[in-house]
Amino acid sequence: MEKNKIGNLYIVATPIGNLEDITLRAIKVLKEVDLIAAEDTRHTLKLLNHLEISKPLISYHRHNEEIKTDNLIEKILDGQNVALVSDAGTPGICDPGEVIIKKCIEKKIKMIPIPGACAMINALITSGIDTKEFIFFGFLPLNKKSRKEKLEEIEQASKTIILYEAPHKLENTLKDLETILENRQVVLARELTKIHEEFIRGNIKEIIEKSKDLKGEIVLIIQGNEKEHKSNNFEKMTLEEHYKIYEAQGLTKKEIIKKIAKDRGLNKNEVYQQFL
Ligand code: SAM
Repeated sequence: MEKNKIGNLYIVATPIGNLEDITLRAIKVLKEVDLIAAEDTRHTLKLLNHLEISKPLISYHRHNEEIKTDNLIEKILDGQNVALVSDAGTPGICDPGEVIIKKCIEKKIKMIPIPGACAMINALITSGIDTKEFIFFGFLPLNKKSRKEKLEEIEQASKTIILYEAPHKLENTLKDLETILENRQVVLARELTKIHEEFIRGNIKEIIEKSKDLKGEIVLIIQGNEKEHKSNNFEKMTLEEHYKIYEAQGLTKKEIIKKIAKDRGLNKNEVYQQFL
């Protein structure tokens, strides 16, 4: 690790469940830095113990982010190398990070991202829903007005939508989504990388039905609004291309034929005959 007059900030991704999901480079960095700034020091200590790393820890969470940033910047300017970690996954993604990163840019401090786990990316890649373009909304706001605005945005968005949610708020969130999603495909990814990892697929009604009393950490992947896309694009596709879109979403042959018929304004039997 470089030892300069000014230290570096390493932004280090840590596991989202399975402790083996950490890169060799991340382990090396955690071993070599002078200090680790952690969202919850007790939580990070468990990881460090698992990796047999002993290192000074400083707490750096949402409620002390502003104050602690100046303190950390001083240490880096003083020559210390600092690693920033959050409780799970990639710092800055619904976790502290932004404030110190902006400050490092201002102070011309070198930042080095150390890639690794991120819940949304792993939920997205396994969803079967379009990964070419997507929007990450984080957690839905609790404030009524902001929540309504966000839901309207989701209703309009033509790209794949990603949401984070806590289990105790899931029921409410799904009910709110039910009012805007019609028959869009949804994937609920739960407890990624852990023993009870699970993917629940279906339309919003089916997801509500299948997710009663669900526990654990959750990511929701929602198919974008294809209304416009449909009228513009489906007719330009071959039936096979059209079929593959729904097949990738995990739908059954029967469901796919029904959807294709609806998208193209055809009779189900007509579509079925073409596939025979
Ligand atoms: N920084 C993290 C990342 O890179 O994904 C996200 C932190 S955010 C405070 C916590 C939320 O991430 C959880 O409420 C859940 O929505 C999602 N999450 C984190 N770990 C997860 C897991 N193992 N399985 C499913 N969702 C997870």
